[in-house]
Amino acid sequence: MAKVLLEDIKRRFNNVTAIEEISFEIPDGEFWVLVGPSGCGKSTILRTIAGLETATSGNLFIGDRLVNNIPARARDVAMVFQNYALYPHMTVAENIAFGLKMRKINPKIIQERVVNVARSLSLDHLLDRKPKQLSGGQQQRVALGRAIAREPQVFLLDEPLSNLDAQLRDDTRAELKQLHQQLGITTIYVTHDQVEAMTLADKIVVLSGGRIQQIGEPQAIYARP
Ligand code: ADP
Ligand code: ADP
Repeated sequence: MAKVLLEDIKRRFNNVTAIEEISFEIPDGEFWVLVGPSGCGKSTILRTIAGLETATSGNLFIGDRLVNNIPARARDVAMVFQNYALYPHMTVAENIAFGLKMRKINPKIIQERVVNVARSLSLDHLLDRKPKQLSGGQQQRVALGRAIAREPQVFLLDEPLSNLDAQLRDDTRAELKQLHQQLGITTIYVTHDQVEAMTLADKIVVLSGGRIQQIGEPQAIYARP
C-alpha cells in the first residue's frame, strides 16, 4: 500500500476541462470514495491515477514516486470497472492468475495467491468454472480477485457494484469492506450510491463540474441539519 497524492491536477479534452484544481492526499491504507453527479470528473480522476489518462498539468505521486510519466503497467495500481471484463475462455483460476502470469511470477507463488484470493472472496468452489457459468455477483468477485491477486499498492474501483441487483450489491459491498480491512490496500472508489459511500469511506470527496466541493468523513458529508 502507498499514499496517493494529487497536486493541482487538471485534464482537458480539446475544449472541455474535465477536471481542474484537483488536490488531495490519501494516506497509506485509507479507503476514499469519490461522489458527484454524472460528468463531474470522477472517472477521469480514477483513470488519471491508473495511468489510462495523462494529466494536462499537475503532479501525481504514488508513494513517494512521481508517476506523471510512468505508464499504467509500471504504476502498481489495479482497477476494476463496472463491466467486469473477464476472459470468457479462461476458468476462474486462470482469470485470477492472468495478471501474475503476465508478470512472469513464479508458478508456485501464483498458485498460492489464487488459492488465497479465492478463499477471501468465497470463490474456492468455483475455480474450475468459466465466467458464463457464474452469476453476475460471482463474476464481479472474480474481477475483484484478479485485481487484488497482483497485490497492488493502490486499488481503484469505478462503480463496481452498479450492475448487481440489490441483494448482491449489499453482500459484495460487505465483502469489499472486509477485504479492505484484511489487506489494507489504499483504495479509491467511485460511486453514485450514498449507502456505499457511507459504509465504505474513510473520507468522501464531493465533486461538481470537475472541481472538489468538499472533502470530509461520511458523517460530515451526509450530516442532517
Ligand atoms: P464522471 O465519471 O463523473 O461521470 P467523467 O470523468 O467521465 O465524469 O467526465 C468528466 C467530463 O469530461 C465530462 O464532461 C465528460 O464529457 C468529459 N470527458 C471525459 N472523457 C472524455 C473524452 N475522452 N473526450 C472528451 N471529453 C471527455
Ligand atoms: P505500456 O505497454 O504499458 O505502455 P511500456 O511499453 O511503456 O508500457 O513499458 C513496458 C514496461 O517497462 C512497463 O510495464 C514497466 O514495467 C517498464 N517501464 C516503462 N517505463 C518505466 C518507468 N518510467 N519506470 C519504471 N518502469 C518503467
